[in-house]
Amino acid sequence: RSWSESGIPEQILEVIEKIGYKDPSPIQRQAIPIGLQNRDIIGIAETGSGKTAAFVIPMLSFISKLPPFTDDIRHLGPYSLILAPTRELAQQIESEAKKFAGPLGFTCVSIVGGRSVEEQQFNLRSGAEIIIATPGRLKDVIERHVIVLSQCRYVVMDEADRMVNLGFEADLTFILDKLPGDTMEGEDQSEQMDVDGETMIKRGRTRVTTLFSATMPAPVERLAKKYLKRPAVITI
Ligand code: AMP
Repeated sequence: RSWSESGIPEQILEVIEKIGYKDPSPIQRQAIPIGLQNRDIIGIAETGSGKTAAFVIPMLSFISKLPPFTDDIRHLGPYSLILAPTRELAQQIESEAKKFAGPLGFTCVSIVGGRSVEEQQFNLRSGAEIIIATPGRLKDVIERHVIVLSQCRYVVMDEADRMVNLGFEADLTFILDKLPGDTMEGEDQSEQMDVDGETMIKRGRTRVTTLFSATMPAPVERLAKKYLKRPAVITI
């Protein structure tokens, strides 16, 4: 199957062609059509499988349906968040995400240890639709009020098993609890953002959450159970 059969919006197909990607990899073939329906996903896949594009493409499709980042909304924080275990992986994801996000007019900023908070605050000054972060540093900048996540509606946890092995389970819980709720039960429906309105409202949801992991140890199962809603499970 080729890219054009996967239901990807035209403007993103053009970027894929410009980047020169070959046919979609197995995980891309499986995850992208499901991701484009704004379903939560658990993806069991290794690095090198092309999983970055598998989650970045549906994420970009999602945020391209949101209002453009103008001065009155950029201070409300990013539209999407990618969490990764290490600075190195976060930077790899950032460079892959930028290939797609740049031509579409979206800004990616990484928030990782080893660089000063001031520098990261500077990078955020004009707003970023997409944040790529390690959990420890992100928790830190949230606590310092450098960033808010009040309109973050698309979250990816990459290499979740490595994040919990590095002791980040509590930080992840802290971060995920700061996000807009994933269920609207008992809340004012009129506050809900109209993102592919029909599907989201039908499912009573305001946030898409996806999780990628090579293995599913108990702490990762706990995170998935707490923060994902009726996820599709994809195994490569
Ligand atoms: P990842 O598993 O996401 O780290 O991707 C591994 C490498 O494969 C990255 O350098 C990507 O740029 C590249 N890649 C991902 N998908 C494709 C594709 N469909 N065709 C060619 N290269 C790809």
